[in-house]
Amino acid sequence: MRLAAFSLSIAALAAAQSQPEFDLLLRGGHVIDPANGIDQVRDVAVKGTRIAQVAAAIPPSGAKRVVDVAGSYVVPGFIDLHAHAYGTELAVSQDDTALPTGVTTAVDCGGAGWRTFEDFKETVIDHSVTRILVFLNIVGAGMVGHAAEDNVDDMDPIATAKKIKQYPSLIVGIKNAHFGKPGWESVRRAVEAGRLSNTPVILDNHILTKMQRHTREKLLEILRPGDMHTHFYNDRQVEVIDRFTGKVQPWMFEARKRGVLFDMGHGAGSFLWPVASKAMEQGFPPDTISTDLHKMSILGSKADMPNCISKLMLLGMTLQDAVARSTVNPAKAIGQFPTLGTLGEGKGADIAVLKTRTGVFAFRDALNKKRMGREKIECVLTVRDGRIVWDRDGIAFPDWRQAGDYGVPQ
Ligand SMILES: [Zn+2]
Repeated sequence: MRLAAFSLSIAALAAAQSQPEFDLLLRGGHVIDPANGIDQVRDVAVKGTRIAQVAAAIPPSGAKRVVDVAGSYVVPGFIDLHAHAYGTELAVSQDDTALPTGVTTAVDCGGAGWRTFEDFKETVIDHSVTRILVFLNIVGAGMVGHAAEDNVDDMDPIATAKKIKQYPSLIVGIKNAHFGKPGWESVRRAVEAGRLSNTPVILDNHILTKMQRHTREKLLEILRPGDMHTHFYNDRQVEVIDRFTGKVQPWMFEARKRGVLFDMGHGAGSFLWPVASKAMEQGFPPDTISTDLHKMSILGSKADMPNCISKLMLLGMTLQDAVARSTVNPAKAIGQFPTLGTLGEGKGADIAVLKTRTGVFAFRDALNKKRMGREKIECVLTVRDGRIVWDRDGIAFPDWRQAGDYGVPQ
């Protein structure tokens, strides 16, 4: 009897030993994980939904699935701080647009207000493979057109803050944009909601003109440290770059010094080569790289994350720096670091695998002006919560008969 139990435990041990320790091993890629100071070839092992190990050589026998990613970059899944998944008629499905571009966390930028958030959650967020977080619009009805977005009566800081406190793991801040009336009332109410909920606000660089608001005043007197100014390379009002000297205005540096953050928010109208190139030349990159991807910007200026990064690289940013500004920095900006934005062991397995293509590529800005670049970043594989959800070239499942193994809903 004793002998039987002994041999049984030996068998169990042997079975345990032969059982692969990891579910997925990304092998031989160049890992860029700014949060952990990693910028070298490393293997990345995933177990379940977590990063299990990042090391120089992890034996492939220890993993159920091994993907050779030599020659590619392995980075934390991108966090797109300015996405549109709900509310506006320009919203897009994040599972269709974010995951193929390496974005594993999309922060919806003001689509819903406190009165429509529950609908957003039930109809979109709860069913999305992409992690969707939310900047709640200060407008209760959300981003549903200019009449609604000008309606100050529907901007209720108390109700907005209450909704944020109800969903602290989903709602990370407040959005105000497109306000078409003069003055600061919408902004002040957004900031007040931010104060009540202890979350940041994100404001547009006024798309609309003649509204008696100046960027300087907003950046230096109204926004708090940690608040965000998005679309800042849209400078049609010439308040970011001096029109005569071409210099970045001193209040931009002053605002950065006092902790105001600058977000790219490319979109259809907010990335202009003359503004971005002058700002980059003078040491004013975006703190966070985000797409503002929607039905208008997805095809025209191709504002997806790898393209935003490629455009900034054309202006001199390194890939390493761009990865920091699209992973660690946005995670910090929304109070989610180090839960998000890193490949640290034990963290959620959200990963993007990127390739650099070299050649001659045309990159368009919001005014359709082209600049030619020599490098283009592309996403070839995306892992979300430990599952492969995008595999452009079939490197993880070379045999098509295994296609059913993909983690995405069939
Ligand atoms: Zn937007």
